Amino acid sequence: MNTLSNPAITLIGASENNLKHIDVVIPRGKIVCFVGVSGSGKSTIAFDIIAREGQRQYFESLPSFARRYLSKSNRPNVDEMHGISASVVISQNRVHGNPRSTVGTLTEAYTYLRLLYSRVGLPSMDSSYYSFNHPYGFCKTCKGLGRSVEVNVDRMIDRSRSLNEGALIPREWYVGGRQWSIIRATHYFDMDKKVQDYTDRELEILLYAKPEMVEASSGNLVDRFTFQGVAHRIMHRNTKVHRGPSESDLRYFDFVACPTCHGGRLNEKSLSVKLHGKNIGEVGDMALTTCLDLIKRIEHKNAEVIKPRLLDQLESLISVGLGYVTLNRSTDTLSGGEAQRVKMARQLGCDLVETIYVLDEPTAGLHPRDVGNVITNLRRLRDSGNTVLVVEHDESVIRSSDYIIEVGPGGGKLGGEIVAMGTVKEILANKNSLTGKYLNSTLRIADKKAYREAKGNVEIKHAKRNNLKDLTVQIPQGVLVALTGVSGSGKSSFVEEIKSQHDDVVVIDQSSIGKSIRGCIATYVGAFDRIRDHFANENRIHPSLFSFNSHGGCSACKGVGFMEMDMNFLGDVKIPCEVCHGTRYKEKVLRYLYHGKTIVEVLQMTATEIYDFFDDEEIQKQMQLLMDVGLSYIEMGQTLDTLSGGECQRLKLASRLQQKGEFYILDEPTSGLHFADVEKLLILLNQLVDAGNTVFVVEHNVDVIRNSDWVIDLGPEGGDLGGHLIAQGTPKEIAKVKASYTGKYLIQ
Ligand SMILES: [Zn+2]
Ligand SMILES: [Zn+2]
Repeated sequence: MNTLSNPAITLIGASENNLKHIDVVIPRGKIVCFVGVSGSGKSTIAFDIIAREGQRQYFESLPSFARRYLSKSNRPNVDEMHGISASVVISQNRVHGNPRSTVGTLTEAYTYLRLLYSRVGLPSMDSSYYSFNHPYGFCKTCKGLGRSVEVNVDRMIDRSRSLNEGALIPREWYVGGRQWSIIRATHYFDMDKKVQDYTDRELEILLYAKPEMVEASSGNLVDRFTFQGVAHRIMHRNTKVHRGPSESDLRYFDFVACPTCHGGRLNEKSLSVKLHGKNIGEVGDMALTTCLDLIKRIEHKNAEVIKPRLLDQLESLISVGLGYVTLNRSTDTLSGGEAQRVKMARQLGCDLVETIYVLDEPTAGLHPRDVGNVITNLRRLRDSGNTVLVVEHDESVIRSSDYIIEVGPGGGKLGGEIVAMGTVKEILANKNSLTGKYLNSTLRIADKKAYREAKGNVEIKHAKRNNLKDLTVQIPQGVLVALTGVSGSGKSSFVEEIKSQHDDVVVIDQSSIGKSIRGCIATYVGAFDRIRDHFANENRIHPSLFSFNSHGGCSACKGVGFMEMDMNFLGDVKIPCEVCHGTRYKEKVLRYLYHGKTIVEVLQMTATEIYDFFDDEEIQKQMQLLMDVGLSYIEMGQTLDTLSGGECQRLKLASRLQQKGEFYILDEPTSGLHFADVEKLLILLNQLVDAGNTVFVVEHNVDVIRNSDWVIDLGPEGGDLGGHLIAQGTPKEIAKVKASYTGKYLIQ
C-alpha cells in the first residue's frame, strides 16, 4: 500500500472480535493512545488488526504455500484497510529460554564492549576471547553460563508429612497416583512414617535411588514398574536439556554462581585483561549507570570509533529506565515490563522510518518517577518518522499523546464502538468520554476516609536476598498494604523473601491459569456441568453429548475448534476447523435447544447474559463472582489460554472471594485497567480485607497506594543503590517523607 497517498490509517467496517462494524481513521506520524475499559476492544484495533495486517503484508513476500494459509487465517475481519505499513510490536512477552542471551548480547552493547577490550586492553587479543559464547573466551567449568544448577530437595518433599499424607510435592507423585503407587509397591518405606523420621539410608533411597525394576502382584496379576528416587528422576529428565531445567521443573532447582568464574562467564586468561582496573566480567556485572561512567573515562585513540557507539547503546538502555540492570543479566530473568523496555531500547537504535510501532502498556511495572522517560522515548520513535500506537491507562502517557481513541462504552458485547476520539483537549471536552471525565476530575477515585488498624504483624527477618540490605520489617495484618519503590529497588526480592519465610501466603499473580486449549471459562468456574445438565434434562438425553471434550465434540478437530499448522519459521498458526467452523461440536448436537438456544450460542454468552438466561441459583452465584471481579463481559466458551495476564489474575481472585484469614500477595493488579476498572478493583480488594484477610499489593498506581492502609517504600534507587527501607506508614505519613519518591506522588 502506498503510504504517501494515504496519510492516515483507515479501517472501514471493522468487525474483528467484538468490534461493531466500525470505521476508524488513525493519523500517521503521531503518538496515538487507545483507551477504554477492560475488554472494550482497544487491543483488538491496535494488535489484532493493525499490527497483524502490517505483519501480514510483510509475509506477502513469502512462498505461495505459506502465503495461501496465512492470508486465509490471518486477514483481520475488516471490509477495507488503507494506510497500514510494516509494523513492529514491542510486547511484554518475556524473552524465554536461552540463558546465553543477556541484556548485553540482545542489544549490541556487549559486542562493542568486547571490541573495546580487544583494541584497548593489554595484551591485545582477538575479540572472541571476550565472548562467553565462544570456546576461546568461556569459562571451562560452566561453558559461559556463569551459573550452575543445583537440585533443591526441600522443594520436593514436605518432611513434616508421611508418604500417605502427601510428603512428595511434585504433582506426579500425588497420593494414589501412579508414581506414588510404585513407591508403595517397593515396600521400602513405612508409608505412615513422617519423612523427618527417616534414616539417612531411607531418605537416600527415596530421593536418589537409581532406576530399578519392581514387581508387584495382586491375585494372579503381576505388574512391573520402574522405581527411581524422586530427585534422581527430576534431575535426570533435565540434564538432557543443555539450556537448563524445563520451565515446569525450574522450581526444584537453585541457580548458584559458577564456582570457577563466580558468574563472570569467562576464563582466567580473558578476565586478566583490565581497563581502569576492571575486567570485562566485572564491567558486565555493573549497573548500567556505573558502567556508563567507567566507559566515559576511557581515553584511547583505538577507542575513538567504538566508544561513542557503546555509550549510545548504554544511554538507550538507561533512558528506558533500565539503569539498574547489568549487561550480563540473563534475559530469561527479566520481568515482562523489563523485557519490553530492552526491546524498546533496541528499536531506539534502529533507523526504521514509516514503521508502525504497537506497544502494550509501556508503563507497566514503572514507578511514576520513570514514566517521563517512556514518554521521551515514544516521542523519539515518532520524531524519526514513525507512527506510535500505545494501549495505555497511565494518565501522563494519555495526556502526552497527540491523539486519543476511546473504545467502549463497556467490555465484550457492550463495547466495540468508538466512544470518543481527538486531541487531549477534545477528549476533555467530550461528554461521552469516560476517560475524559477521569482526566478532568468530574469522576475521581475517592480518597480513603480512615485507615484500618492492624490486627497483628507478620515479621520478615534479616532479608538479604539480592540487593536487600538486611531488612527486618513488620507487615501489618488484616489491612491493605502497598509495597512501593522504583524499578529494581528490591520489591520482587522482598516478595520472594515473604514467600520463603512464610510458606502459607497465597500469591495471586498474572501467570496463565491453564495452557490447555480445552479449558474454558465455564469449566473453570464450574458452571459447565450445570449448563450441560439443563440441556440434558430439557432434551432427555445424556449430558456428555453437550461436552466438546466428550461425545459431543467435532470428530475432525476432536473438539478443539481449530487445526494447528506448523509453519516453520513463523511458528504454529491456528486455522479454524473446516468441519465445525470453530464451534467445536458435532452438527447433530446443535439440533438440541434449551430455551431456544443451542449449546454453542450459550457458550458465546457473557457472564451477565448467562446470569439472566438461567434461572439457577448455583450458576447465578458463579456469574456474580465473575461480575464482581470485573469480568462481566467474558464469554463462557472463551478458552483459558487466550486470557490476558490481568484477566487471569482477576479470575483467580474470583475463586478467593469466599475465603478468610489469608495473606494474599498481588503483583501490580492494576496493570491493564482503566481508571473505572481500578475503582472496581479497589472495592474488591477492600472486600477481601473486610472479610478478614491481609492484602499485600506491589503497586505503582497512585490511586491504589493512596487508598491503602499502610505503605512500605523501598529504594532509594534500583540495583545496588536500592534495597533499603525508605519509609513505612500510612499514605499520609509517607507523603511527608522527603527521601521517598513515592511520597512526592502522594502529596495532594
Ligand atoms: Zn564459570
Ligand atoms: Zn471441528
